[in-house]
Amino acid sequence: MMSVPRYWREIPERTRFEGARCTACGNTLFPPRMKCPKCGSEALEKYKLPQKGKLMTYTIVRSPPKGFEKMTPYVLGMVKLDDGTIVTVQITDVQPNQVSIGMQVESVFRKISEDGESGIIEYALKFRPIF
Ligand SMILES: [Zn+2]
Repeated sequence: MMSVPRYWREIPERTRFEGARCTACGNTLFPPRMKCPKCGSEALEKYKLPQKGKLMTYTIVRSPPKGFEKMTPYVLGMVKLDDGTIVTVQITDVQPNQVSIGMQVESVFRKISEDGESGIIEYALKFRPIF
Protein backbone atom coordinates (compact mmCIF):
# COMPACT_ATOMS: atom_id res chain seq x y z
CA MET A 1 0.00 0.00 0.00
CA MET A 2 1.36 3.40 -1.05
CA SER A 3 0.50 5.26 2.10
CA VAL A 4 2.33 2.96 4.51
CA PRO A 5 5.46 5.12 4.94
CA ARG A 6 3.35 8.20 5.55
CA TYR A 7 1.33 6.86 8.40
CA TRP A 8 4.27 5.20 10.02
CA ARG A 9 5.84 8.63 10.17
CA GLU A 10 2.73 9.97 11.86
CA ILE A 11 2.81 7.50 14.71
CA PRO A 12 5.34 9.29 16.93
CA GLU A 13 3.28 12.48 16.72
CA ARG A 14 0.14 10.70 17.77
CA THR A 15 1.64 8.65 20.51
CA ARG A 16 3.48 11.28 22.45
CA PHE A 17 1.92 11.75 25.83
CA GLU A 18 2.19 15.48 25.81
CA GLY A 19 0.22 17.98 27.77
CA ALA A 20 0.72 21.63 28.49
CA ARG A 21 2.13 23.55 31.39
CA CYS A 22 1.15 27.06 32.33
CA THR A 23 4.25 29.19 32.75
CA ALA A 24 2.31 31.69 34.87
CA CYS A 25 0.93 29.43 37.60
CA GLY A 26 2.56 26.06 36.97
CA ASN A 27 -0.72 24.26 36.34
CA THR A 28 -0.38 21.17 34.11
CA LEU A 29 -3.13 19.98 31.84
CA PHE A 30 -4.08 17.25 29.46
CA PRO A 31 -5.18 17.44 26.76
CA PRO A 32 -3.35 20.69 26.01
CA ARG A 33 -5.48 23.80 25.66
CA MET A 34 -4.92 27.34 24.46
CA LYS A 35 -5.64 28.86 27.83
CA CYS A 36 -4.93 27.84 31.40
CA PRO A 37 -8.27 26.96 33.03
CA LYS A 38 -6.87 27.91 36.43
CA CYS A 39 -5.48 31.39 35.90
CA GLY A 40 -6.54 32.29 32.35
CA SER A 41 -2.99 32.77 31.10
CA GLU A 42 -2.22 31.90 27.49
CA ALA A 43 1.46 31.39 28.22
CA LEU A 44 1.42 27.63 27.91
CA GLU A 45 4.33 25.44 26.96
CA LYS A 46 4.57 21.82 25.87
CA TYR A 47 4.95 19.51 28.76
CA LYS A 48 5.78 15.83 28.82
CA LEU A 49 3.54 14.08 31.28
CA PRO A 50 4.62 11.24 33.53
CA GLN A 51 3.42 7.86 32.31
CA LYS A 52 2.37 6.53 35.65
CA GLY A 53 -0.27 7.43 38.14
CA LYS A 54 -2.98 6.29 40.46
CA LEU A 55 -6.65 5.69 39.77
CA MET A 56 -8.69 8.19 41.78
CA THR A 57 -12.17 7.25 40.69
CA TYR A 58 -13.83 5.45 37.82
CA THR A 59 -17.10 4.67 36.16
CA ILE A 60 -18.13 1.69 34.08
CA VAL A 61 -19.62 2.78 30.78
CA ARG A 62 -22.27 0.40 29.50
CA SER A 63 -23.90 2.53 26.82
CA PRO A 64 -21.10 3.98 24.74
CA PRO A 65 -21.40 6.56 21.97
CA LYS A 66 -22.12 5.39 18.43
CA GLY A 67 -19.16 3.67 16.86
CA PHE A 68 -17.81 2.35 20.16
CA GLU A 69 -20.40 -0.38 20.73
CA LYS A 70 -17.77 -3.09 20.40
CA MET A 71 -15.97 -1.78 23.42
CA THR A 72 -18.71 -2.18 26.02
CA PRO A 73 -18.53 -2.25 28.86
CA TYR A 74 -15.45 -0.19 29.39
CA VAL A 75 -13.95 1.66 32.29
CA LEU A 76 -13.49 5.40 32.27
CA GLY A 77 -11.21 6.58 35.02
CA MET A 78 -9.76 9.72 36.51
CA VAL A 79 -6.06 9.20 36.96
CA LYS A 80 -3.79 11.35 39.07
CA LEU A 81 -0.37 11.24 37.46
CA ASP A 82 2.83 11.19 39.49
CA ASP A 83 3.19 14.96 39.08
CA GLY A 84 -0.37 15.64 40.20
CA THR A 85 -1.94 16.20 36.77
CA ILE A 86 -5.40 14.70 36.57
CA VAL A 87 -6.46 13.05 33.31
CA THR A 88 -9.70 11.35 32.31
CA VAL A 89 -8.89 8.23 30.35
CA GLN A 90 -10.08 4.79 29.45
CA ILE A 91 -8.69 2.01 31.62
CA THR A 92 -7.74 -0.97 29.50
CA ASP A 93 -6.45 -4.55 29.88
CA VAL A 94 -8.66 -5.19 32.87
CA GLN A 95 -12.13 -6.55 33.60
CA PRO A 96 -14.44 -3.90 35.05
CA ASN A 97 -14.83 -5.93 38.24
CA GLN A 98 -11.05 -5.96 38.78
CA VAL A 99 -10.72 -2.20 38.80
CA SER A 100 -10.17 -0.61 42.17
CA ILE A 101 -9.61 2.90 43.39
CA GLY A 102 -5.99 3.58 44.24
CA MET A 103 -4.57 1.06 41.80
CA GLN A 104 -1.35 1.98 40.00
CA VAL A 105 -1.72 2.53 36.27
CA GLU A 106 0.51 3.41 33.34
CA SER A 107 -0.15 4.98 29.96
CA VAL A 108 -0.31 2.92 26.81
CA PHE A 109 -1.29 3.80 23.25
CA ARG A 110 -3.82 1.64 21.47
CA LYS A 111 -4.97 1.61 17.89
CA ILE A 112 -8.63 2.58 17.87
CA SER A 113 -9.44 2.68 14.18
CA GLU A 114 -7.90 2.32 10.78
CA ASP A 115 -9.14 4.02 7.66
CA GLY A 116 -8.18 1.65 4.85
CA GLU A 117 -8.69 4.26 2.15
CA SER A 118 -6.65 7.10 3.58
CA GLY A 119 -4.23 4.87 5.45
CA ILE A 120 -4.77 6.83 8.61
CA ILE A 121 -4.56 4.95 11.85
CA GLU A 122 -5.95 6.55 14.94
CA TYR A 123 -4.45 6.00 18.31
CA ALA A 124 -5.89 6.69 21.68
CA LEU A 125 -4.24 7.15 24.99
CA LYS A 126 -5.36 4.61 27.54
CA PHE A 127 -4.13 3.48 30.91
CA ARG A 128 -3.63 -0.05 32.13
CA PRO A 129 -3.10 -1.37 35.63
CA ILE A 130 0.40 -2.20 36.81
CA PHE A 131 0.17 -5.51 38.60
ZN1 LIG B 1 -2.15 29.13 34.85
